[in-house]
Amino acid sequence: KRIKVGVVFGGKSGEHEVSLQSAKSVMEALNPHQYTIVPIGISKSGRWHVGKNAMKALEEEQKTQVPSGSSASFINQQVGGLTPIVPKSPAAPVPATLASDVDVVIPVMHGTYGEDGSIQGLLELMDVAYVGAGVLASAVGLDKIVMKQVFGSVGLPQVRYVGCTRKTWQARSNDIIREIEESFGYPCFVKPANLGSSVGISKAKNRSELERAVELAAQYDRKVIIEEGLDVREVEVAVLGNDTPQISVAGEIVPSNEFYDYDAKYIGGASKLIIPAELTEEQRSAIDRYAAQAFQAIDCSGLARIDFFIEKSTGRVLINEINTMPGFTRYSMYPKLWEASGMSYANLLDTLIELAIERNNEKR
Ligand code: ADP
Ligand code: MG
Ligand code: MG
Repeated sequence: KRIKVGVVFGGKSGEHEVSLQSAKSVMEALNPHQYTIVPIGISKSGRWHVGKNAMKALEEEQKTQVPSGSSASFINQQVGGLTPIVPKSPAAPVPATLASDVDVVIPVMHGTYGEDGSIQGLLELMDVAYVGAGVLASAVGLDKIVMKQVFGSVGLPQVRYVGCTRKTWQARSNDIIREIEESFGYPCFVKPANLGSSVGISKAKNRSELERAVELAAQYDRKVIIEEGLDVREVEVAVLGNDTPQISVAGEIVPSNEFYDYDAKYIGGASKLIIPAELTEEQRSAIDRYAAQAFQAIDCSGLARIDFFIEKSTGRVLINEINTMPGFTRYSMYPKLWEASGMSYANLLDTLIELAIERNNEKR
């Protein structure tokens, strides 16, 4: 009997477009002899579309939102400016298909509502198995401030940082700026706490840039993190498993821009991936150890891509972040790292589905 797989994509997040690309790759790769695919699209306004026209429905809805009538790909639609927080809309009823019909769900969504525990909580309530991290790990992993607090508590080395909310910034930005300047100064990186794909992130080289950067980040999230900006190499590993996760070979990203911003990730496309990354034995073993620790510290399961910085001046390895639902197109780092470790894209999906079912059974 074929396994019925619900693939959920889109969602009310700044990474909506990235999700569609990941989901297309996933649906193309699932072996039709093994699986029956149920596409489940969530539009930017929160509307659910189920069935074979779901992807089209989302793309249509998007086109009506783009001013110029270009038949542009998701990439061009992004050029005009990234999507800030989508206004709240009345919750659309969740399709019954989800609850009754599918054996397992792959929530191929990134960022808010997709990677932050929201959809995971819904799936828990529906008692359906799903790929990837549960509610806790998703929520902790997406919140860069809480994530860093948890990583710090298990002794993982990371950059210095200061967190604030929109309100605390408005009330006492002078104090926060002083704290930042006393602790690490410039350049610093300013980020919305809960997002990904570099949306809303800027590098600030002085006080006025810092102020502007915080205001930008605060448009995307109630919470903002400001981090010490280091001159770094960026190295990533893929993690796969539940209680005893495997770690892939490491890959290095050489961004085409000043840092690995949205443009360098999806638009310019000239960033280079080097697999395997050139590392010393010490660096490699530190990365393996930290990756497993980080995965377990947030109680992650299924998969994660864990991103590291290597400080150029010292060679020191620092953890940057964990992504519990990393980009999943065929060209994305996560599947590429497994390919380089000897596991094909289709095989990877089989394993993730098995892990999802295993985790669901473990619960009771
Ligand atoms: P996202 O979750 O959106 O990918 P990241 O924290 O990974 O956010 O930041 C995006 C990119 O910004 C990184 O890949 C890196 O190029 C750059 N960057 C972020 N933080 C720092 C930092 N503290 N020092 C140097 N570069 C940074
Ligand atoms: Mg991220
Ligand atoms: Mg990142």
